[in-house]
Parts: sequence; structure tokens; C-alpha cells
Amino acid sequence: MPQSDVVVIGAGISGLAVAEALHRSGRTVTVLEARPRIGGRLLSDPLDLGASWFWDGEQRVRAMTDRFGIATFPQHIAGDAMIDERDRVHRYPGNPIDGPARRFAHGAASLTDALSGQLPEGTVLMGQPVVEVSDNLCVTTADASWQSQHVVIAVPPAVAVMTMRLPHALPTNLLAVCLRTPVWMGDTIKVVAMYDEPFWRADGLAGAAMSRVGPMHEMHDLSGPDGSPAAFFGFARASQPDGLDETDVCAQLARIFGPRAGFPQKLQIQDWSREQWTNPGSAKGYVPSAPDHSLFGHAVYQQPQLGSRLHWSSTETATHYAGHIEGALEAAERTVRDINTS
Ligand SMILES: Cc1cc2nc3c(=O)[nH]c(=O)nc-3n(C[C@H](O)[C@H](O)[C@H](O)COP(=O)(O)OP(=O)(O)OC[C@H]3O[C@@H](n4cnc5c(N)ncnc54)[C@H](O)[C@@H]3O)c2cc1C
Repeated sequence: MPQSDVVVIGAGISGLAVAEALHRSGRTVTVLEARPRIGGRLLSDPLDLGASWFWDGEQRVRAMTDRFGIATFPQHIAGDAMIDERDRVHRYPGNPIDGPARRFAHGAASLTDALSGQLPEGTVLMGQPVVEVSDNLCVTTADASWQSQHVVIAVPPAVAVMTMRLPHALPTNLLAVCLRTPVWMGDTIKVVAMYDEPFWRADGLAGAAMSRVGPMHEMHDLSGPDGSPAAFFGFARASQPDGLDETDVCAQLARIFGPRAGFPQKLQIQDWSREQWTNPGSAKGYVPSAPDHSLFGHAVYQQPQLGSRLHWSSTETATHYAGHIEGALEAAERTVRDINTS
């Protein structure tokens, strides 16, 4: 059976940050990732289909961009916003929708690319969904099992409970909390529409909109640092059983930003609710009750279990900035501290 000091389940930013820090402190680490790619909810193809912003005060993200020389730039917010009401679309002077935020010049996934680039080849194994963590912390996928001193569950707690058999010895109240802890943005569809130029800026528009009509309920400018590539993005809730209709999306863009917006060069619809490694519940017909975000950073996630050998590390387990990239890094920091002091 392959051995490592630590097995990390999940190669999102939290899991990779844990792996990279432990590798730096001399531990052997194996990261098992279900998808055929790293990054989890960070996905840049080429623009961000998952997270795109970070904000003032998020020191861990800032430290990582500085450390790896990852270029960032301010979110475009200058101009007027648009409000899409049932009976009309109107222009709102100024932009009350966007606050100051920063973006990653080459996409948010440059963070996870930089982290994985620090790990020895063979550390991150992709296409390896973990199906079981046993009582003696043996971690099993369809292909193999791994034995280690520490296991880090760097997947959202609800995803862990729904995709893996977890140790019987874990307290039942812990598993109940896991199941009820929402996956941040796990019910969201992100739409990215790309154009040859940011024509809305020339009209004095910020590219930001709120809508009571849908299908997207909010929209923002997602253009690159110098306006190239030019793009909007929008969020929609995953309520339609057949997903989003491209024709409805283009009609809404044209209604709000003018006819040119109705003909994007490229339209991408990333439905996170249908991603089994972000929202396995929807595939299994599990309908959560109203999401209870007060469970983020719950006390049960702050203490390692099973003789201080099993650790929780995803953004949902963070006590500050839960849901954000910063929260995923805070959780990783706690995990690394717990492992290094055990
Ligand atoms: C549309 C969208 C927009 C967002 N916008 C922002 C933003 O602007 N700013 C911001 O700060 N945050 C934003 N977020 C949130 C941000 O993306 C997350 O906080 C962060 O990426 C979470 O990282 P994580 O490592 O905790 O979890 P994840 O990224 O979910 O990583 C978990 C990993 O575990 C893997 N996995 C799951 N189950 C298994 C299994 N059984 N076996 C092995 N591997 C498994 C998954 O494939 C995944 O790679 C957004 C998220 C979404 C979806």
C-alpha cells in the first residue's frame, strides 16, 4: 500500500495550499483529486468560470499573488449601471452594484497552478475520486488505497459526506452538520459572454446590471486588464430543470446592453449545480432546505478528529472569509498548523 505522511483529498485551492505548505516543511504528501483537473471552484478557460475577485483585507490571497508574482488588476467599475425591471430597463447613474475588487490577470486558476507547480511530480493524482476513509484512516479510490499519518478532507463537508464513506468512529452530530453545511455557490450558474471589444464602456456603462426578470440576476464586466478579451459575466440560479437556454441569455444581454450584446463571439455557461464534485446532491435528487450559512466555520470543523489525525479544510470550514478564496486559505493555514503541532 502506498504511504505518505499526509493524504489530502481534493486539489482545490485549500487542498493544494495544505499540500504545498506541508511539502515545504519536509512532509511527504499525496493529493487525490476526483476531477481530471486541479482547481475545483477556480476554473479559468480562459476567463473565470468560477471565482474571479478578491477584496481589500484578504491578506492571504494578496500574500500568495506577491509570492508567486501573479499579476492582478482592479475590477472595471467606472460608468453607469443598468437595472432590468419587469416593465422596463433603466440606466442608473453611477454604479451601486460593483464595489472595489481585484482580479487575477490570467484568471483565478493561476493561484492553483502556481501551488501545484511547487509540488514534486506525482504528488497530485487526478481522476481519483475517494470513495472511503476507513476507521484506521486508509483512503481508498477505485484504483488503490493509501495509508498515512494524517488525512485532510479538503472538499466541502456536504460533498465529503455525499461522496465518501467516512470513518464510523466520527461523531454522528459532525456528519449531520456536514450534510447541512451549504456548498458556497454550489447552486449557481455562471455565464460568460465574450466580444471583440468592450463596446459598453464607450457608452459610459460599467457593464454591471441587476435584474428582476432573469434568467441572470446580476451581471458584471469580466474583461481582461486592458479591456481585452472583452466580456460580461452573469450569475443565474439553477432552478430550470433543463438548465439555461442560450437564446434567453442572449435576449437578456441585448435587452440590457443593446443589440450588439445579443451576439457574443463566445458564450460559456458553467452550471456548478450540475458538477458532481461540487454539488453531488443535485445529481442524487437531494434537495437541501434553505441554506444555513451560519454553519460555515462551525466548531466541529476546528478540531481534528480521530486522535488529531483527520482534518477539515475547505472554505466552508473557515471562521473568517468562509466562501471566499481567502477562507479556503485560512482553513488551509489552520490545518497545516494542526498537523505541524501534532
Ligand atoms: C461561480 C462562482 C463564483 C465565485 N466567486 C468568487 C469570488 O469572486 N471570490 C472568491 O473569493 N470566491 C468566489 N467563489 C468561491 C471560491 O471559488 C471558493 O471559495 C474556493 O474556490 C473554494 O476552494 P476549496 O479548495 O475550499 O474547495 P473546492 O474548490 O470545491 O475544491 C474541492 C476539490 O475537491 C474535489 N473533490 C470533491 N469530492 C471529491 C472526492 N470524493 N474525492 C476526491 N476529490 C474530491 C473537487 O473536485 C475539488 O477539486 C466563487 C465560486 C463559484 C462557484
